[in-house]
Amino acid sequence: MIKKSPISKLILENRTFYVKRDDLIDPYLAGNKYRKLYTLLQTPSDKLNKIISYGGTQSNAMLAIAAMCAEKNWEFIYYTKGISQTQKNEKCGNFFIAKKLGMLHVEVDNEFYKDFIASLRVNLDNKTFIVDQGGAVEEARVGLEVLAEEIRAYDSHIKSLATPSGTGTTALFLALSLPEYKVYTTSCVGDITYLKQQMSALYTIPDNLVFLEPEKKYHFAKPYPEFLHVQKKLLEAGIEFDLLYAPGMWKCLLEQTDEEIMYIHSGGVTGNESMLERYKKKGITSFC
Ligand SMILES: *Cc1c(COP(=O)(O)O)cnc(C)c1O
Repeated sequence: MIKKSPISKLILENRTFYVKRDDLIDPYLAGNKYRKLYTLLQTPSDKLNKIISYGGTQSNAMLAIAAMCAEKNWEFIYYTKGISQTQKNEKCGNFFIAKKLGMLHVEVDNEFYKDFIASLRVNLDNKTFIVDQGGAVEEARVGLEVLAEEIRAYDSHIKSLATPSGTGTTALFLALSLPEYKVYTTSCVGDITYLKQQMSALYTIPDNLVFLEPEKKYHFAKPYPEFLHVQKKLLEAGIEFDLLYAPGMWKCLLEQTDEEIMYIHSGGVTGNESMLERYKKKGITSFC
């Protein structure tokens, strides 16, 4: 199963951008999570019977893994810290959909969470595979090389790419696979020093990877009126992006660059419904 994604044009603030539509690959198993899980997706179903992962309940990686396991007929166990009753009862968003796809959710006491996660690899049988939080694994590189080939095959004068970072796995492996391109990224979780540390744990950071610093400090997954504002402009231009990562990246691109850029859509739009609920609760409803 190899799925290629199309490329769309997007006009924003009188600038032309190109968007690599990885969001269109699949309703749930899309964006950079499709690329990062590529190696597992190519694995024959009978080689494994269980996937274990852990992290937050809004995670796009969690949903992508759940969709993959449903397709492969693999059991999927997902560990989180303790969560609220409200979260458990949610009838929309990634967590709800992942459970519907068969994900087994297990809560671990906050106090023991770190040690518990560290112990997961002990006594692992050879039919179980652990996907670290956010899919930050060396295996992700293969899938990003496939993406790189698709970008290269697109005959265009574009020499700059952009994609937002959480763990930085996507931006790092993309830049390594495409040394002839400039790859812009920004940190959506923690500051750039932290992002660079995480990337360095995977591989040496190449010179063509350019880090854009936001003008203001944003906390991950918090609602900000200016993010909703960018989201609205993008929607008007014709493409929906996720609310956690994309607005910060787009703001940096609009404020700090001026060339033609291809934005690699990283997916995650299924999380928008529950995120918009949080905007509403904070009273941020108007699209400013
Ligand atoms: C997971 C995710 C990211 C971050 O990807 P990393 O490889 O961890 O940097 C960016 N955008 C979206 C929509 C995501 O779901």
